[in-house]
Amino acid sequence: MDGIKVRAIVCGAQDYKESDKLVTLCSVEEGKISVLLKGCRKPTSKLRFACAPFCFGEYVLVEKGGYYTVTGCTPIEQFTSLSSDIDRFYAGNVMLEALRKLTREGENVARQVACVLDALKTLCYEESSVALVLIKFLCSFLKTSGYALDFSKCNVCRTENMSKRYFSYEHGGLVCGICAGRNCEIMSGQATGVFRAILKDTPLSVMRFEDNVLRECLTLLGGYVTNLFGFRLNSLIQYLDISK
Ligand SMILES: [Zn+2]
Repeated sequence: MDGIKVRAIVCGAQDYKESDKLVTLCSVEEGKISVLLKGCRKPTSKLRFACAPFCFGEYVLVEKGGYYTVTGCTPIEQFTSLSSDIDRFYAGNVMLEALRKLTREGENVARQVACVLDALKTLCYEESSVALVLIKFLCSFLKTSGYALDFSKCNVCRTENMSKRYFSYEHGGLVCGICAGRNCEIMSGQATGVFRAILKDTPLSVMRFEDNVLRECLTLLGGYVTNLFGFRLNSLIQYLDISK
């Protein structure tokens, strides 16, 4: 039986029947799809690795009765080192949750997949602060999804002089005290500095910020996602909880 080949990352999986799994794949070629991995929970299954979250590989899919079954997978990158560092593991989960929840079936998600793969590589192979990697990821993922943030000036009146700064969920970034209305959170000057440095593509390795400032940025980004999409990124809440 001929199948189609897609390059995809596992961004969610749930047990199905006795030994199967239903897996959410985000693929470069076919967008977000649900696929069945038969028998992959058996210890002898050759596809055990292919249903694990973070696995990025070339999947062979066969369509039957309106759904896809995975018949083979060649791993490209499994990001296995994430599981040995709890902060990095939880940060990685935020990335998978964003990919799973902030995309729709039928939509081209190639750029979102690339954004997640980039951030996972940084998490696995670079020494950068985990919180900074996550802030940068959320800013670029939101931009890729059409919700770019702007912290250069007040997003309403364009002033650069302000004594108080607010993160506006409505305008997607900085607003001044006069323009701040509903859907705003007060934001420290340091948090504004983090966002500006990240959006200027400053290398993460040269950035030095206090943990509480990075947590403030992540909390604001979580609030922005909730405001845009109407749900919380649960793994971001878990990350903030375990990384205290
Ligand atoms: Zn203003």
